[in-house]
Amino acid sequence: MTAHIHPSVDNGIKKGSGHFAGGTLACKCKDRPVNVGIKGDVAHNHACGCTKCWKAAGAIFSVVAVVPRENVTVLENGDKLHVVDVSAAIQRHACKVCGTHMYGRIENKGHPFYGLDFIHPELFQEAGSAAPGFAAFVSSVIESGVAPSAMAGIRSRLKELGLEPYDCLSPALMDAIATHVAKSKAA
Ligand SMILES: [Zn+2]
Ligand SMILES: [Zn+2]
Repeated sequence: MTAHIHPSVDNGIKKGSGHFAGGTLACKCKDRPVNVGIKGDVAHNHACGCTKCWKAAGAIFSVVAVVPRENVTVLENGDKLHVVDVSAAIQRHACKVCGTHMYGRIENKGHPFYGLDFIHPELFQEAGSAAPGFAAFVSSVIESGVAPSAMAGIRSRLKELGLEPYDCLSPALMDAIATHVAKSKAA
């Protein structure tokens, strides 16, 4: 049996257009959906197995990417947003009614990813944003109830999809974090 990763990748990865100009993220509410406008394309799009990222119904991974925070604007029904966990490094702004996470923002200026907001590209009403390129925090899906015996199948499916599985972030992002730490120690 093929392991299900996420509805947006289970039938193969849809490549990005390479010139996505941005679009609108919408929550799952039929009535007064929260709409968030995004300027430009997403970066570092990936499948994430951590327990904090919002996951579509039935998905064991989330699909999450970053955009510069100045490119994120709440367009409609922002009164329905609340922060899921105010103590978390990433303040995840979610719809109070349907639970969909609309954007995650870092307010700590010393954080390596300060200036980037985390969004879920599957919520775009438009096609063509950059495709996921790797899988992060893969082992963490066990914490959300996946049997350890299923992990070999999950990792091989991720590789088959072209989503190299990592149990932390990708080397590029781990290097970015370490560079930030090294710079702050030198300062
Ligand atoms: Zn909603
Ligand atoms: Zn995550």
